[in-house]
Amino acid sequence: MEYKCNICGLHYRSEELAKECYDWCSKHDSCKLEVAEKSIEAMEARKYRQLSP
Ligand SMILES: [Zn+2]
Repeated sequence: MEYKCNICGLHYRSEELAKECYDWCSKHDSCKLEVAEKSIEAMEARKYRQLSP
């Protein structure tokens, strides 16, 4: 199950994180870094970087 922040479009594995992101995004113009780096997109990007030579 994935949860999505409807404002920035990032996906999270927990509803809490998605809500935290949504709350932040609705008040600010940018994403909160601590939350955004827990997104599935950020985790996938890290995984990809680790696999790259
Ligand atoms: Zn967001």
